[in-house]
Amino acid sequence: MPTALLLENLHPQARQILETAGFDVVTRTGALDEGELIEALAGVQVLGIRSKTHVSAEVLAAAPDLEVVGAFCIGTNQIDLHAAADRGVAVFNAPFSNTRSVVEIAIADIIALTRRLTVLDTEMHAGVWNKSATGAHEVRGRTLGIIGYGNIGTQLSVLAENLGMSVVFYDTAEKLALGNARRMDTLDELLETADVVTLHVDGRSGNAGMFGAKQFARMRPGAVFLNLSRGFVVDYAALREAVLSGHVAGAAVDVFPVEPKRKGDPFESELRGLPNVILTPHTGGSTEEAQEAIGRFVANKVRDHLATGSTNLSVNLPNLALDQRPDAHRIAYLHRNVPGVLATINATLAEHGVNIEGQLLATRGELGYVVTDVSTLIDPAVVQALAGRPESLRLRLLS
Ligand code: NAD
Repeated sequence: MPTALLLENLHPQARQILETAGFDVVTRTGALDEGELIEALAGVQVLGIRSKTHVSAEVLAAAPDLEVVGAFCIGTNQIDLHAAADRGVAVFNAPFSNTRSVVEIAIADIIALTRRLTVLDTEMHAGVWNKSATGAHEVRGRTLGIIGYGNIGTQLSVLAENLGMSVVFYDTAEKLALGNARRMDTLDELLETADVVTLHVDGRSGNAGMFGAKQFARMRPGAVFLNLSRGFVVDYAALREAVLSGHVAGAAVDVFPVEPKRKGDPFESELRGLPNVILTPHTGGSTEEAQEAIGRFVANKVRDHLATGSTNLSVNLPNLALDQRPDAHRIAYLHRNVPGVLATINATLAEHGVNIEGQLLATRGELGYVVTDVSTLIDPAVVQALAGRPESLRLRLLS
């Protein structure tokens, strides 16, 4: 029975899925430091973590039983992905389990900004009855400009159209426009067109500071601005100026270049105290539904990897989407991507009289992954011959 060690208070769905699949599951609430982790990983095939546990090259070197790491979160910076791949340890994360949560908060922000809800709310709590239509708008008929038309941007596009908004988008990659959304050729074109500008670009380093004084000046007077992507993408001092001058009518910001480490820590920002500026503590993707979806998604990936060899959506191994074949014996062979590996595998199998039923190969940079299905039991000599080759990284037999 494979053993799974789940740290950092993962959603109970994760435990349930792995236990149902026959895993022996051990859970611990907090993160472990390097020494504790090395000790805890003896005899463990599956490690489940969030962002606080660091899986270093040293940890991986000291954990020969480990086959897969599930990062029950979006980011994987806490794991040495290269060292993991080198040891044949697959890493999975949950790249879009909280997409819907981010989209819903964006919709809430867009309506709240366009109706100046937080301004009215603050005044009411201060005992001021300011009944007026000035500066309040319907979102119906207004134009939403989405910068970054990926998982979040596209889903927001669909929901915004359902609210009666016109959608334009700008993306540096070629993207299929959904519904009636229109692609803009340049960022400036989008900024000159949109009543609501929302950023959903990814965190590549080239995006640092991509949105500043020049871009705010290009926005239509009275337009509102949202950033729920990454903090370092926007110059918030420039946003402050644009809001104070009245050129930008409001903003919703969920992400900051420097964020407090722990819950309850003080929060500093030049955006504090500005009118019609909604600030949230990086909670765009934080809902109970998203947590459950993350638990389910990653646990399923981990389970499938061990059962079928599937590496679909693994962040560090060549990707192969594989189904279970109950009638076949499977050899999952991770190796260095050097010429002739496929020929060697097939020659070795032929030498031992093994007939190949199906075979798939994927490569990723320096790595190759060949999955071969055969109808007869695999001779240990085949395993020895392949696993002993210099290019071999990990060989698993799955029946
Ligand atoms: P994604 O990778 O699916 O989409 C990003 C898109 O941005 C891609 O289509 C890419 O081509 C495009 N892009 C990158 N740089 C660009 C640029 N300079 N100009 C125009 N387009 C550009 O990512 P996603 O899953 O949609 O997530 C989007 C962002 O939201 C990420 O930065 C992610 O970290 C962030 N996020 C935030 C929260 C939160 O809690 N606030 C939660 C989840 C994701």
